[in-house]
Amino acid sequence: MTDLTPDVVIVGGGIAGGALATVLARNGLEVFVLEREIYYPDRVRGEWIAPWGVAEFKRLGLIDVLRQHGALSVERNVPYDENWLPEAAEQRALDFTKLPPDLPTPICIGHPTMCNAFEASAKAAGARALRGVKEVEVTGGVRPTVSFTLNNELLRLTPRLVIGADGRNSVLRKQLGFSIHSDEPHNLLGGMLVANVPAWPRHVQAIGTEDRLHYFVFPQGEDKVRLYACYDFADRRKFAGPDREVRLLQAFRLKCLPYSEAIVGGTPISPFHSYSNEDHWIDDPTLPGVVLIGDAAGHNDPIMGQGLAIAARDVRIVSDLLQSEKDWGHAEFAPYVEERRERMRRLRIAAGLATKIRVEFGEDAKQRRARVSDRMIERQLSPLPAAIIGPERLPPGAYTTETIEKLIAP
Ligand SMILES: Cc1cc2nc3c(=O)[nH]c(=O)nc-3n(C[C@H](O)[C@H](O)[C@H](O)COP(=O)(O)OP(=O)(O)OC[C@H]3O[C@@H](n4cnc5c(N)ncnc54)[C@H](O)[C@@H]3O)c2cc1C
Repeated sequence: MTDLTPDVVIVGGGIAGGALATVLARNGLEVFVLEREIYYPDRVRGEWIAPWGVAEFKRLGLIDVLRQHGALSVERNVPYDENWLPEAAEQRALDFTKLPPDLPTPICIGHPTMCNAFEASAKAAGARALRGVKEVEVTGGVRPTVSFTLNNELLRLTPRLVIGADGRNSVLRKQLGFSIHSDEPHNLLGGMLVANVPAWPRHVQAIGTEDRLHYFVFPQGEDKVRLYACYDFADRRKFAGPDREVRLLQAFRLKCLPYSEAIVGGTPISPFHSYSNEDHWIDDPTLPGVVLIGDAAGHNDPIMGQGLAIAARDVRIVSDLLQSEKDWGHAEFAPYVEERRERMRRLRIAAGLATKIRVEFGEDAKQRRARVSDRMIERQLSPLPAAIIGPERLPPGAYTTETIEKLIAP
């Protein structure tokens, strides 16, 4: 058994883990990253980075890493939807190039590509990244320990701090007894990567609802698009079974969506995976010697695509604290705990509203969606812009029940 004493051990070499490892190693810390997978699989985990998240990656000095690995800028969101003819939807498009100057356009990049890119940047900065790590066990405290097996060898590290970045089903979270809250599952969200769709405009994304499907199309590199389908639990069998990829593709034969035939003619190049959509949160994702970040610390309902931005903000706040605080004692992470708690509360409210407006079906829901869209074009207060500009930029009044009732009122 080996016993090494690095500054930080990060469990989970995904987005949050790889990004934090890069930043800390660039700051001169000795960092180990322990990743379970040998190859990063396409689990359908986030391809679109919100403008406020891109701003966070920029502040972290990581945007070039993403650009060098093919990140694509998206300039317009077109709400092709059963409420409007395509030309009318185009008139309602959100032009991301007109956001405030400190907010970049969103970017699209594959999740496994990002994980590989951050692992490479972490290694280039001097971090040690181990893949294929099994049976990780962590104890907290003034001198935490991390034991694990790698190639059947049992290893042990005793760092100053352990970071839990092992994703939405975090093993560390369970091992260390963090209690997690969640709301009722809202619906199902699944995604799939499709090639051979050269007709799809490379700088346009589309989000809308038709009949009983809420859909997303995000451009990816070359001729690829990432499709997401959000649907009711009652419809789960429509997208289950061995031919689910074909059925998902067929579901994109939508009247409201130009290029839908081009999409249906594309070639699925990943499995279709779906997950239930709900929020999970932890009041305090820290213990002496341990800090959880990214999905491990609780995640927003993916309907608004906020997880990557959340992970980047976590990395920025935690790395700043590690840089400025000498002791790394438990109390020093209080600013992270407080900021994250309010950030996730606000995003939870916004996601709840997004679900209500976009993933409830039928005539009443359709009319409500059109009403809310009109009111937002007229700049009525709403929590929904949080998903683009970041939750802290809206006034607290955007998140109240009164604001939401006024926004959706008949
Ligand atoms: C269907 C769906 C669509 C989404 N779409 C978007 C989107 O468009 N935009 C967006 O911003 N977010 C999106 N998200 C959310 C986003 O994917 C996550 O919030 C983001 O990946 C969180 O990063 P992370 O590093 O915390 O976790 P992950 O990226 O999941 O990384 C966790 C890492 O930990 C590793 N790991 C797990 N357990 C262990 C262990 N015991 N030991 C060692 N390693 C371990 C995993 O293998 C993985 O590499 C989506 C999520 C889902 C489910």
